[in-house]
Amino acid sequence: MNNSPFAYMRPNILGLSPYSTARDEFSGGDIDTFVDANESPYPTGLNRYPDPRHKELKGRIGRLMGVEPDRIFIGGAGSDEAIDLIYRIFCVPGRDNVIAMSPTYGVYAVSAAINDIEYREVPPGPDYRFPTDEILAATDRHTKVIWICSPNNPTGLAVPPEDIERVASAFDGIVAVDEAYVDFSPYGSVIPLLAKYRNLIVLRTFSKARGMAGLRIGMAFADPDVAKVMANVKYPYNINGPTQKELLRRLDDDISTQVAEIISERDRLTICIAGYPFVEKVFHSDANFLLVRVKDADSLYGYLVEQGILVRNRNRIPHCQNTLRITIGTPAENNRIIRALDAYRDGLRPSWKREEGRRARLERITSETKIAVYLDLDGESDESHIDTGLKFFDHMLSQLPHHGGFRLDLTCQGDLGVDEHHTIEDVAITLGEALLSALGDKRGIERYGFVLPMDESRAMALIDLGGRTDFRWDVGFTREMVGDTPTEMYPHFFSSLASAMRANLHITARGENNHHLIEGVFKAVARALRMAVRREKFAYSLPSSKGIL
Ligand SMILES: *Cc1c(COP(=O)(O)O)cnc(C)c1O
Repeated sequence: MNNSPFAYMRPNILGLSPYSTARDEFSGGDIDTFVDANESPYPTGLNRYPDPRHKELKGRIGRLMGVEPDRIFIGGAGSDEAIDLIYRIFCVPGRDNVIAMSPTYGVYAVSAAINDIEYREVPPGPDYRFPTDEILAATDRHTKVIWICSPNNPTGLAVPPEDIERVASAFDGIVAVDEAYVDFSPYGSVIPLLAKYRNLIVLRTFSKARGMAGLRIGMAFADPDVAKVMANVKYPYNINGPTQKELLRRLDDDISTQVAEIISERDRLTICIAGYPFVEKVFHSDANFLLVRVKDADSLYGYLVEQGILVRNRNRIPHCQNTLRITIGTPAENNRIIRALDAYRDGLRPSWKREEGRRARLERITSETKIAVYLDLDGESDESHIDTGLKFFDHMLSQLPHHGGFRLDLTCQGDLGVDEHHTIEDVAITLGEALLSALGDKRGIERYGFVLPMDESRAMALIDLGGRTDFRWDVGFTREMVGDTPTEMYPHFFSSLASAMRANLHITARGENNHHLIEGVFKAVARALRMAVRREKFAYSLPSSKGIL
């Protein structure tokens, strides 16, 4: 359709004379005394009103995205402001309707209800394909907007640009395409189609790929007449000064590596998750999440929460029975999800339960390793027993209970005939999970570090059990092997341990003798752990970082 977009607007909007801010009314000249807006003259850093027209932002965003600034609207409250404005500009309450595929992003329906607009839902095609013909068939003379979420939330599938074009050319009304996840999609944006279809509005956000959900900024790209009306209808100062500044500061951040990693992790998780016997289908995703249909979504959801993993349970929304939506995390987070799903599959759930006291008993069986761990944080370290089949590694591991002041029984039968990789990695994971489990809700523990000089070497370990996983490793080995263990396995061991026990672990060590170096590292970690898990007799509250680190 190539009608002027004014043809679809509400009469009250067409007749609007918008509020004009003090700074709107004047342009040009060299002003150094601002006494026009009743602001405080004292410089607090925030005493001046921000630019209501977002001139600098639109210029920069326009250059970044290759769009003329007069086609850009910038909204506060993320995309929600633009969604609400579309209703308020185009839809007459109590009379008009809009159409969307179901399931889709929930805000369209809620915002329709708030604005008293009828919201018509059309079921999806097979595998959640966008039902182009059915959507067009559902329109009538009061249909003002068709919502197209591409890639769609929560299903993940993108709508082919030809289909969007077909809707835009056939429909006599506004076609609003929400591209919140377009950075992850192979199709790219339909912004170039704006030049051809005056009824097209494209929504984008800084909340997803660009990593600024906390900032609450969204964008709409549209016909210049539409962008202008949106600017007239919005709250005059909808984006505050610090937010505009912060966005300008981060606008040129390069996200391409992160996006590439999310896409490759998404494809890896798709394959991993599809292999579980309790998974019925992993739907194709062009976004940064996966919709997974399982046998019993509520059960798996509850289990994952127990494991400290929160996914989105979509079981109760139409067309999504027994589905969970899982956002793609960092590789370490994704591995944690996979380990939790492994245990769910293997029925290991009861053994994950914390025993009375600060004890944990775990058994972990994979095709490569069979590991049993008993850990008692208040037990006798002398009674510990460790046997992984790797002598030197056992010697290192035994430093943990000995210097950590807890009891650790650990046996591992691994595929050492292949190599030591699986044994060392799975021991780290199981041990980390045992520590996490034994610590329970972490009452009475704190965050600690320890520096340990050992002969000519010096090792430092900092540990924080506050729940944020991070790992730093700076250890200068000069040899490839110490005893029967490759030195390259140690950073891997400690990063797996940190991730499994959800700790922030920083390790630094320097020295000439590689044996002393790694032994110093194990002892320093054990000592830091000892302090971190020590039961505080008097301060029986959840730990905080205040005054400690
Ligand atoms: C997350 C999301 C948005 C963006 O929301 P903001 O309010 O900008 O944070 C928009 N549309 C869809 C479909 C989303 O999933």
